[in-house]
Amino acid sequence: KPAQTTVKKYTFGTDATFPPFEFQKDGKYIGIDIDLINAIGKEEGFEVEIKPMDFKGIIPAITAKQLDGALAGISITDERKKVVGLSDPYYQAGLSLVVREDNTTIKTPDDLKGKVIAIKKGTSGAKLAEEYGKKYGATIKHFDDSPSMYQEVANKNADVTIEDFPVISYKIAVDPNSKLKIVGDRLDSDFYGIAVSKDNVELLDKINSGLKKLKANGKYDEILSTYMGKST
Ligand code: GLN
Repeated sequence: KPAQTTVKKYTFGTDATFPPFEFQKDGKYIGIDIDLINAIGKEEGFEVEIKPMDFKGIIPAITAKQLDGALAGISITDERKKVVGLSDPYYQAGLSLVVREDNTTIKTPDDLKGKVIAIKKGTSGAKLAEEYGKKYGATIKHFDDSPSMYQEVANKNADVTIEDFPVISYKIAVDPNSKLKIVGDRLDSDFYGIAVSKDNVELLDKINSGLKKLKANGKYDEILSTYMGKST
């Protein structure tokens, strides 16, 4: 009688309105992060369950053991490394200032004095906006997801937002009615990592090993070009 094997199933949180990394199409979650974790699971022999939630809830849900991990374009930071495990970097992102397409007054952070900045709660963009808020005397408006934040700028209820460069570039490229544009240089050059529960060394090892295999066998590049085209 063959030994019974049980395939481990891990639950990963995601920020479901963050294309091209995660978004919904025909009722299914797709995107770079989703394909990546499914491919890693296949390589390393575990099953994946995806749980969409607001970005701000993701790290707390991992520390509370409601999730095994998360992929949500999560920037690797020293602060986060204290509370969760973070994989090897898998994508270099960075942050950009984003204004309405007809705005001519904001080009750099120095132009933020007295302005209204829309941010998404819990993000590295929000952290930077709060610093600018103090430094330049800008007002911060908080949102739970990226689409609401973009809308606020498009509707002129906020002057500017700070968003991950690849995400806002994709948005502007695929939506000719976004009314948004990127201004200035990238504000930082952070990397995305996959987050896991801090004590789950087994899962972190599997993820890093899977990432390495996917980079070596071309599957990683294939996933990126599925969503971003050949130029990126
Ligand atoms: N990369 C940013 C962060 O980690 C934003 C991620 C997101 O909005 N999903 O804070």
